[in-house]
Amino acid sequence: MRLIVIGAVAAGTSAAAKARRNTEDAEIVVYEKDSFISYSGCGMPYFIGGDVARAEDLTPRDPAFFKSKYNIDIFTQHEVLAVHPDSRTLDIINHVTGERFTDRYDTLILATGASSIMPHIPGASAGNVFMLRNISDMLQIYSFLLEKVPESAVIIGTGFIGLELCENLTARGIRVTMIEKMDQVSPGLDPDISVYVEQRLKANKIEVYKSAEVTKIAAGKGAGNAPDDTGTDVVLADGRNIRGDLIIMSVGVRPEVTLAREAGIVVGTTGAIQVDTYMRTSVPDIYACGDCAEQFNIVTNKPIYRPLGSTANKTGHIAGDNASGGSVEFRGILGTGIYRIFGLAVARTGLSEKEALAEGYDIEVCHNIKPSKPEYMGGRDLLIKAVADRADGRILGVQIVGEDGVDKRIDVFVTAITFKARASDLFHLDLAYAPPFSTTKDPVMYTGMILDNAIRKGRRLIRAADLDKLQKNGSTVQLIDTRSAAQYQKKHIDKAENIPHEKLRGAAASLDPDILTVTYCNKGVTGNAAQNILINQGFREVFNLSGGNNTYENYCEAKGFGENA
Ligand SMILES: Cc1cc2nc3c(=O)[nH]c(=O)nc-3n(C[C@H](O)[C@H](O)[C@H](O)COP(=O)(O)OP(=O)(O)OC[C@H]3O[C@@H](n4cnc5c(N)ncnc54)[C@H](O)[C@@H]3O)c2cc1C
Repeated sequence: MRLIVIGAVAAGTSAAAKARRNTEDAEIVVYEKDSFISYSGCGMPYFIGGDVARAEDLTPRDPAFFKSKYNIDIFTQHEVLAVHPDSRTLDIINHVTGERFTDRYDTLILATGASSIMPHIPGASAGNVFMLRNISDMLQIYSFLLEKVPESAVIIGTGFIGLELCENLTARGIRVTMIEKMDQVSPGLDPDISVYVEQRLKANKIEVYKSAEVTKIAAGKGAGNAPDDTGTDVVLADGRNIRGDLIIMSVGVRPEVTLAREAGIVVGTTGAIQVDTYMRTSVPDIYACGDCAEQFNIVTNKPIYRPLGSTANKTGHIAGDNASGGSVEFRGILGTGIYRIFGLAVARTGLSEKEALAEGYDIEVCHNIKPSKPEYMGGRDLLIKAVADRADGRILGVQIVGEDGVDKRIDVFVTAITFKARASDLFHLDLAYAPPFSTTKDPVMYTGMILDNAIRKGRRLIRAADLDKLQKNGSTVQLIDTRSAAQYQKKHIDKAENIPHEKLRGAAASLDPDILTVTYCNKGVTGNAAQNILINQGFREVFNLSGGNNTYENYCEAKGFGENA
């Protein structure tokens, strides 16, 4: 059997290596149009920032390694120009010699990946405008940094790659401005979570422009260190100009599907190649994996496109296995992702609130703020936003921000959601505890308890947005601030009455048990204690403000309301 793989980064090399582990009989050949193979694209921002000392550390393997270890022939600078499924042949060009030739396959794996989107903006071809997708891009940016020593950078796009670059360029002493077309940074997050990212950017002196569309990149006067350097102005639709010595376009990627489309292979609704759970395309004996292939969402069972290295390695392994006699099925993804921005870890898995609502779920949402471990051990607050289906309590998605322990919690939630856990299941997890690592009841368990109490035990939560709506439409709401008088004086929600928790039992008789009541504290815990008191005293409808005043303030900030009263 002759197995040919197109593309030699994460998915292609995983596929080829897995196929070789299954069989010694196949001829395995990989064509790669670039010069670099099997590299860590995810590490590139950290080379630019200096955390990774040598570029070679990101490219530990070359074709000779694959030949000696796996007996796989990898041809770099060889581009496949066309796939002919009828004759099972490929047209190829060797970019070093210019030679064109044809090769033949029995089984083909497409691992052509994705490419960065370069928007059609006048001036985008200027010499100081870069994208970061592969090692060549990284080396170009690095050379520019060394030669021109830019003082300022403008990053267009605030997805995780733009943010990682922001952190790493700042580490080099460069003044960074970020521009985002949407009305929030990190658009994959819900707005009430993305506000924490924006706060962190601002705390690190990053200028952020939201709802800002770039219309032009115009040559400007020299801003670099050498007299002939030309900085550029990024021109926004509203006429504002932002000066940048270095411009990074980071507005997303699109799957590389041209070869597949021209070969008659079906491209799915997401724009990536449609595959079944064995990574088979619509054409017999042709598989696809990695960033060029569509995935499906474990929660909704619908196709999604989340081009990530974690998934590329996995789907590459599956394609390689099935193309060489195996039978592993892909089980879908949750779109799990994590990044770091100036010490803040930001993670998500499953459906966001926005996505769950768009899918038509009747949801319960909680904002759980708890320390990652005891404060006496240096624990830091985590904010866990979790979304559950009110119909059966199933956890649909989670977003977490915090400085410590975010990675461990998100992975527990990934596992729970993958196995269709309900809110009530989380309390029963036998999670590891000792003071250096977590609290006796881990924040994951609290999240389950809060959601379960809300869904099944009448301890309803109200989101900041819903409270705001009620107040704006003039509904009668009895709003109780359960914090101390001093905290209330400092700042409180409009129309809130201050009854500190310890006085509430005595004061409850002065309240009306028949009108909608909302309790709140700083983070949600005391608000819940107050809610319990009122419900146990016969109040009909009592909600606790999800995430307390902290979350409410962030909601106001996200909405641009400024300070609450
Ligand atoms: C800066 C950055 C940071 C990232 N950070 C993370 C992270 O933290 N976590 C995470 O999970 N993911 C991250 N990713 C995403 C991750 O790198 C990609 O998902 C992964 O590289 C995809 O691997 P792939 O093999 O499917 O595709 P690619 O890496 O795109 O490789 C496809 C290869 O196919 C080759 N090719 C295409 N067409 C042809 C052709 N016709 N002939 C020959 N060769 C062809 C291309 O030249 C390319 O080298 C990051 C990406 C970037 C750019």
